[in-house]
Amino acid sequence: MDIPQLAIIIPCYNEELCIAKTVEQLFVVIDNLISKNKIKDSSYIYLIDDGSKDKTWNIIEKLHNSDQRVKGLKFITNFGNQKAIIAGLEGVRNIGCDCVVSIDADLQQDEWAIEKFIDEYMKGADIVSGIRNNRKTDSFFKKTTALMFYKTMNILGAKIPPNHSDYRLVSKRALDILELYPEKSLFLRGFFNEVGLKTAYVNFDVKPRMAGESKFNFMSLMALALNGITSYSVVPLRLVAVLGFIMALFGFVAGVETIIEKLIWNTSPNGWATSIILSCVFGGTQLFCLGLIGEYVGQVFREVKARPRYLKDIELK
Ligand code: UDP
Ligand code: MG
Repeated sequence: MDIPQLAIIIPCYNEELCIAKTVEQLFVVIDNLISKNKIKDSSYIYLIDDGSKDKTWNIIEKLHNSDQRVKGLKFITNFGNQKAIIAGLEGVRNIGCDCVVSIDADLQQDEWAIEKFIDEYMKGADIVSGIRNNRKTDSFFKKTTALMFYKTMNILGAKIPPNHSDYRLVSKRALDILELYPEKSLFLRGFFNEVGLKTAYVNFDVKPRMAGESKFNFMSLMALALNGITSYSVVPLRLVAVLGFIMALFGFVAGVETIIEKLIWNTSPNGWATSIILSCVFGGTQLFCLGLIGEYVGQVFREVKARPRYLKDIELK
């Protein structure tokens, strides 16, 4: 196999403090790999500005003007990190490359692991997923919720490796397959795991964020997790049905009991607390199930409208 032309894609949202340094550091890695004859010297970096409100795009333009190996795409507005990565994958597929690595703008992921990614690619892997050695840099809250999310996903049947973020290499072949999936709210971690291509795993260390603060808040993490679940598994819907059945059975038994009580013992209505509790439990469960089904209806709604995943503003090739 020929040595590959590598593209590195970086989603950027308000990353003016990081990207210049990140690009510089990634070129150190790229030049090192070129000197070792592991990648072609036409390898390049592709930055996706996800509708930043700061100077991110100006910096990308400057970097592009001083080095044509820096390419970029600007979104009209913020579409979120998954869309930015997908746009990057599609962008470099159009420009041309043999494999592509996605990495965060804050360089939290150890950039030297890219060499191991390439080694695995040369051994025949179409997908190389980076697995973090630890979550030392994450807060206790993020650690636990992330773990819960991966556990839930695995129980629900979407076998995504825990502690894998979107730091991964994908081959040209995987990019071609991605093109066949028009669904809008694609969850990349689930997707690349599901297509069944030969996958390798590489461990890497996580560093603290280079500068600035995390661009994810509680709500955006919840949205990511919820999309991950509802776009990959219908098991929750089945659970709702099972729960409904159990509840109905329970209601039937309670109903029979009430009738017997009334007919035989004719006891007066002193079950006030019981009825309040029961109506709360049933009402709450129903609302929860309705909300859950609503999430899936929302997925269908978004997909049916078939709006574009993202809107391009400017592209620098
Ligand atoms: N990001 C993005 N769009 C968003 C939010 C984040 O493109 O709406 C990018 C961000 O610039 C970074 C990557 O996604 O390159 C990961 O974000 P961050 O480092 O803030 O997340 P954390 O590491 O805290 O999970
Ligand atoms: Mg980060």
